[in-house]
Amino acid sequence: MAGLCVGVLALQGAFREHGDALTRLGATVREVRQLKDLDGLDAIVLPGGESTVMGKLLQEWSMLEPLRQRILAGMPVYGSCAGLILLADHFRTLPVTVRRNAYGRQLGSFHAEGRWEDEAVPLTFIRAPRIEATGPGVEPLVTLNNAPMAVRHRNQIAAAFHPELDDDNRLYEAF
Ligand code: GLN
Repeated sequence: MAGLCVGVLALQGAFREHGDALTRLGATVREVRQLKDLDGLDAIVLPGGESTVMGKLLQEWSMLEPLRQRILAGMPVYGSCAGLILLADHFRTLPVTVRRNAYGRQLGSFHAEGRWEDEAVPLTFIRAPRIEATGPGVEPLVTLNNAPMAVRHRNQIAAAFHPELDDDNRLYEAF
């Protein structure tokens, strides 16, 4: 990622952890809080947090449609947890159906071991959404009991879990 300027949407949520992970991988990280922060970005990360709050702030700051247009134009985007919900339900650029808080009113986090091809992937879930259906062109990347936990669709990667909390860089590298 050396030489790339990667934005992390920093309106709310767990943006610092993503920034740290991206910096470790050599990217120049920019926290995105307003429209002008989108200028010249090579890619953007949508962090976990509360998708309703982030969606509302994106509207209020007139960033929803401009960012949506950039995603549709092919800018690489990576959403984790609430970021997945933003892509599916707010930007509507990712053709998947998600159910919010699908594992109940969970206070802490829970862990599981997923699969990426033949390799084990650590999964940390925090009030996670579930991917209930995927549209055409959506490729599962990480699965748990054959259900998709992370997917790719063209320039978009999204995970129901929090890769930034485990020392696992595979999704960042795919991104
Ligand atoms: N439950 C949150 C939402 O609906 C997502 C949780 C998270 O990002 N850890 O936006």
